[in-house]
Formats: sequence, C-alpha cells, structure tokens
Amino acid sequence: MNVTVWNEYGDAQKRREVADVYPRGLHETIADFLNRDPDIQAKTAVLANPEQGLSEAVLDHTDVLVWWGHVYHHEVSDETVQRVVDRVQRGMGMIFLHSAHKSKPFLRLLGASGRLSWREANEKTRIWTAASGHPITRGIPEQFVIDHEEMYSEPFGIPEPLQTVFISWFQGGNVFRSGVTFKKEYGKVFYFQPGHETNPTYHHEIVQKVIVNAVKWAEPVIKVGPLDCPNAAQPLEKL
Ligand code: ZN
Repeated sequence: MNVTVWNEYGDAQKRREVADVYPRGLHETIADFLNRDPDIQAKTAVLANPEQGLSEAVLDHTDVLVWWGHVYHHEVSDETVQRVVDRVQRGMGMIFLHSAHKSKPFLRLLGASGRLSWREANEKTRIWTAASGHPITRGIPEQFVIDHEEMYSEPFGIPEPLQTVFISWFQGGNVFRSGVTFKKEYGKVFYFQPGHETNPTYHHEIVQKVIVNAVKWAEPVIKVGPLDCPNAAQPLEKL
C-alpha cells in the first residue's frame, strides 16, 4: 500500500530545537518507520512542493495520507483542501496527527471546531487503550507512558467518534480522547494526539506501532470515482 506523509515543514519546524529531534523533519522520521513494514511504501510531501505536495498525481498514488501541521494551517489552499477531502470521501484513508486537529481538512471533514485546551509543559502522559480488539490496538499494551508531551485536554470539539480508541491522562490532571476514528463516506479517518515537534514522540516504539496499525486499518477496501451525480435515476420497475 502507498502512504504519503505530509508535513507543513515551514521555518518553524526547521528551527534548532525541532531539528535536534527530527533532523530531516518529522515527516521523514514517520516515513522511515512506516517503510520498515514490508506492506507499506511511504513517501513524503511538504507544503513548499508544487501544488502544496498534494497534486492529483500524488493523490492517485496515495492509499492513506498522514497529516502533520501546526502553524501554517492557514497557508493550505482551499484547492488543496478540496482535493484531499474529495479523496477521503472516495475512500482514501486519512491519519491526522497531533496539532492537525486544527488543520483545514480535519475541520472540513468533521464539520467541527476542533477546540481544546493545551499546555506546553513537557509533562508525562499515560495513554490508555479504550477499544481493545480494535485493529489499531493490535500489539499495543493496555496503557503506556510518554515521558514528555504537550498536553491536550477535553472538552475536545469533535462530533461523537465512531470509536474512541485511546484516552490519555496527563500529569497536570487533564484527560483527552487521544485516539478517535471516523468514517467519512468511503474513507476511514483516525486522529492521534501525541507528537509535539520538540518531543521525541515519533521515536517511541509504541507510538510508531499505533501509527503503522492505523495506516493499515485506514487502507481503503474500495476507492470510487468522482462523487458527482451526472444522471437522473431511471426507474427499475414500471411506474
Ligand atoms: Zn504541539
């Protein structure tokens, strides 16, 4: 299966404190661990690429799109958003990571505010598996710890998920629905909270396994053509 890992990768993600953790950008780290799985071929794309990295040609060869964005959400054009949303509705899988809760495709697909409260205090988070038996939790323990992460807290401005797969507790006392699934027409969508850019979260073995599992879960069973309705329906029975 073909995966595209998209990252805004602007100057904010090239600064020293991020580059120390992800020297080639976190999209390359994510693609590297995805490519260790023999069933996955992962490529990367960034905002500065032609057509913002997400041309029709790229999307033609994308079964699952992984999205990381933070401070440049507003620079993603309406045309790019439309191409992505259209592909998800036609079957492409979509994984939104961390601050992608405020990305334009996330808000469009969910029809939501994405509101939450946050705290950058490098605090400990304990992530609980809330949906044992779900394909995304295969091989994932009942709970695991990330020593240093940004805190995201409820209330989370999303529609009721198809399933809440993970719930996180943070050292400061907050809780958050940190792994949630949705179905948008033909496409499967997963949001996963960990992954602040100055924390080594995507080097964490269990986090990597969750993302690999999520990509496999989101692989389309079928992809369909354009969803417009060019023809009025003819009756199948005598009227
Ligand atoms: Zn963050």
